[in-house]
Amino acid sequence: MPETALIISENLASIREMIPDGITLVAVSKFQPVNAIKSAYEAGQIIFGESRVQELLEKIPLLPGDIKWHFIGHLQTNKVRQLIGKTSLIESVDSIRLLEKINEESISKNVITRVLLQLHVAREETKFGFSPDELIQFVKSGAYKDMRAVSLCGLMAMGTNTNDIDIVRNDFQTVANVFKDLKNILCKDHPFEILSMGMSGDWPIAVEEGSNEVRIGSAIFGNR
Ligand SMILES: *Cc1c(COP(=O)(O)O)cnc(C)c1O
Repeated sequence: MPETALIISENLASIREMIPDGITLVAVSKFQPVNAIKSAYEAGQIIFGESRVQELLEKIPLLPGDIKWHFIGHLQTNKVRQLIGKTSLIESVDSIRLLEKINEESISKNVITRVLLQLHVAREETKFGFSPDELIQFVKSGAYKDMRAVSLCGLMAMGTNTNDIDIVRNDFQTVANVFKDLKNILCKDHPFEILSMGMSGDWPIAVEEGSNEVRIGSAIFGNR
């Protein structure tokens, strides 16, 4: 086995050992070459996360067909059409307009698209997502009920990028609380079960605060 393949499989094995049962691991493969993804796949990883539409579309035909692709990057409405039908989950729905667009394109392709709503709680202005109030208001309005080709599967969020673990924990607690609130008010047609939070640097805190899906890139593949 070439050295990088060995490192990837060892990294994967040690992360899998640390993550409690029942928590989904998304291997974030953005900016990683196809060979690195193949190595992780051969080590048993099936779910991969990508953040750019073009990059994902280039990689798909070069990799095994049973890979489940999660889209985790900011998605522009003009790229939605190309993406629909290619993903197992779009995790980064950060506006109502985007959700509407995903619904429209899914109807025209005759598919149901599974999505997560992205919540913005981090203390950085650059990160995308709904504010907690905005999201609760949207769900209370019931406007999503007309969007029959999207399935709302849960929430995705990022914690603040800081070494202060109290801040990070607080971010994840906020997300977990919004998740519970939304679960209670959402119509039961939507399987609102996934709480996607935690990356290489902060996933143990996220899991302690209720995450059931972690998105890990550099701890598997090395630095991008
Ligand atoms: C890049 C990225 C990750 C993975 O980050 P690492 O620190 O490399 O683990 C997770 N989630 C999102 C949304 C990302 O963009």
